[in-house]
Amino acid sequence: MSKTFFIETWGCQMNDLDSQRLSGGLKLRGYRRVEDEREASLILLNTCSVREKAEQKVFSRLGELRELKREVGELQIGVCGCLAQQEGERILQRAPWVDFVMGPGNVGYLDEILNGEHRIALQFPDDRRYDYLAVDRGSATKAWVTIIEGCNKNCTFCIVPTTRGREVSRPLDDVLAEVRAAVASGRVEIELLGQTVNAYRCPISGRDFGALLSAVAEIEGVARLRFMTSHPAEVNDSMIAAMRDHSNISRYLHLPVQSGSSRVLRRMKRLYTREKYLETIRRIQEAIPEIHFSTDIIVGFPGETEEDFLETLSLVEQVRYGSLFAFKYSPRPGTPALKIGAAVEDAVATERLTRLFDLHERIKRERLESYRGRVVPVLYEGPSRHDPAMLSGRTDDNWMVNFHGDPATPLGSMLGVRIDQAQHHTLRGEAVA
Ligand code: SAM
Repeated sequence: MSKTFFIETWGCQMNDLDSQRLSGGLKLRGYRRVEDEREASLILLNTCSVREKAEQKVFSRLGELRELKREVGELQIGVCGCLAQQEGERILQRAPWVDFVMGPGNVGYLDEILNGEHRIALQFPDDRRYDYLAVDRGSATKAWVTIIEGCNKNCTFCIVPTTRGREVSRPLDDVLAEVRAAVASGRVEIELLGQTVNAYRCPISGRDFGALLSAVAEIEGVARLRFMTSHPAEVNDSMIAAMRDHSNISRYLHLPVQSGSSRVLRRMKRLYTREKYLETIRRIQEAIPEIHFSTDIIVGFPGETEEDFLETLSLVEQVRYGSLFAFKYSPRPGTPALKIGAAVEDAVATERLTRLFDLHERIKRERLESYRGRVVPVLYEGPSRHDPAMLSGRTDDNWMVNFHGDPATPLGSMLGVRIDQAQHHTLRGEAVA
């Protein structure tokens, strides 16, 4: 039987990039990627465990794959990612038809795992193998580049420090070499990744995130530079100065606040107060007035009162986030929040989530409408997904734009687009000379 693989990915960009690394590694080893799982000799589920729902989906998928394995016989199934790390051997007990379980620290160790040397690979090796030339990049114009793995924050709700280990930054020169290679292959947009990306410190020179941002932005051919996810307590002057001083660094910043109440933030161990967060926002806005902020919010954290929640609404109103990702608190195994207090009733959390989304909907609409009539620079990424007659790309501050233009335009070009319509989440317009 020929060697073929199918890979399914849940969760954050770090997981998406791990899947690109796994896919590239498998292709180097003679595997061919297939889009139909029934044609695969190897199926990888690259999982997320940040909320309980993500976890349930994986186990229900594993149930389906058991049937498939019965039908086709020779099929290897591997569970990778954060749920693999969290559950380890319990996955093999609950789903014995799984062939191996492999945590995020082992993406570079495919050979050992495929050879059957390890059925369970959950360690975080000090010397992580990282073959960046073998990444199977999903986009012709954009490359994700990991600069720091793991997380040293101990937010009381979060499973990430357990599933992705302690922070390890990559040497700055390695990062620059990967960016140069990505640019040489036509990727003009670079997105630097880390769970707490701005905690980056070069392990050799000690240079910080701001220094790295500047060094990447100055590489010839980097048309746009983005990064994800920043922790508010790690924002410093050098990061802000790098963003201010380089026009190719996107004026978009994802800065998860989680709650607008200092009382809740303290219980979450977020390491900042409401006032400190707003002060950070103000400093950034002063340096980069047109910045577009986005955020993550958890509603219904144990002990969250109506007053706490009203503080979250007022903070959202004040910052006027363009994008907002909000979730009901989901208890995670082994996290300190389990001992903090009673969970907020589900009906109350649902109602709060609805009010938050309603408020944000209005703010987003007003923000999108403010682009009408303006000509904005758009990095062209390819045909629009919904209407192939239109082109699609993103503004410097990360809004998706679908627009009429010349289909012969080379991918990765920077175009001026006049905006004539605001859609639900996106903008529409026409390329101008
Ligand atoms: N490392 C980033 C940070 O600290 O902001 C992002 C981590 S997580 C992958 C992405 C988002 O999931 C978080 O910002 C948080 O809003 C949400 N999240 C994490 N744990 C959660 C939990 N137990 N329940 C609900 N949402 C959660």
